Amino acid sequence: AIPLVVAINTSLAARNGMLVRDRIAMEDARNLDAIIFDKTGTLTEGEHGVVDMATVNGVDEDDALGLAAAVESDSEHMIARAIREAADERDLTTPDATAFEAIKGRGVRANVDGNEVYVGGPNLLTQLDSEIPDHLQRFADEAGQNAQTVVYLVRDGELIAAVAMADVIREESFRVVDALHDLGIEVAMLTGDSQDVANAVADELGIDTVFAEVLPEDKDKKVQELQDQGKLVGMVGDGVNDAPALTRADVGIAIGSGTDVAVQSADVILVQNNPMDVVRLVKLSKASYRKMQ
Ligand code: ADP
Ligand code: MG
Repeated sequence: AIPLVVAINTSLAARNGMLVRDRIAMEDARNLDAIIFDKTGTLTEGEHGVVDMATVNGVDEDDALGLAAAVESDSEHMIARAIREAADERDLTTPDATAFEAIKGRGVRANVDGNEVYVGGPNLLTQLDSEIPDHLQRFADEAGQNAQTVVYLVRDGELIAAVAMADVIREESFRVVDALHDLGIEVAMLTGDSQDVANAVADELGIDTVFAEVLPEDKDKKVQELQDQGKLVGMVGDGVNDAPALTRADVGIAIGSGTDVAVQSADVILVQNNPMDVVRLVKLSKASYRKMQ
């Protein structure tokens, strides 16, 4: 028979906004050695605002921002929204764009006025093999050290502008890291964003392990890396990109509204978008286990 305690705790979990899809994982949560958090939208608000930009010689800032907004006009990504908003605020007219394509974990591309134009982060530059002009590199370095996300505008193979965006660390995230450390759990962060931004956020939060500039198809390998060290690993994420990592983790935790894919790949779903619920989950698992003995 299913122990009564388990049934009670499932409803207790539900009352705390935790939907348990896999009971074994819920039990395993008490033994987690490490928990990996997706950065954007989980530890941070995920709501970017454009704070600064830089262009190469001969390219007007407004033209560059309008062009970036055009390429981003079909994207739902927070970065895309921030760029469109910045263009709106400056009352820019965005040129027409066609043939939109999202490049997972890297950026977006479209055709504008006969040019092939990309907007994306460091992983995009690697893919395109684009060179960063010195002064844009300095701009990006400084932004990164201030935990600002930088995306680049590439027109017909030439990098012509960089845009810096600020995201805000969620207030709860500080308490989450401290509470997990008190429970003896290693805290890691996984992101497709730059190493600089990841380090800045990790430093501020006191995060132990950082995986940055990780492509969506490699996120599950980072989970595996910790598992290969003999650790029982939890993963907290919300995006489509996080699904393989959630599946790979010993305890996959989808948070917030989450995408359907993330929810279907998770063992536990945290309904309220509050990272503190990760701590509650571990504590509830520990409490249940003690009762069952
Ligand atoms: P995370 O791993 O932080 O959850 P994503 O996997 O969604 O983020 O994106 C990783 C990186 O890919 C972003 O930091 C950004 O550099 C780039 N990127 C993704 N989508 C876009 C977009 N629509 N416009 C510009 N850059 C993008
Ligand atoms: Mg994400």
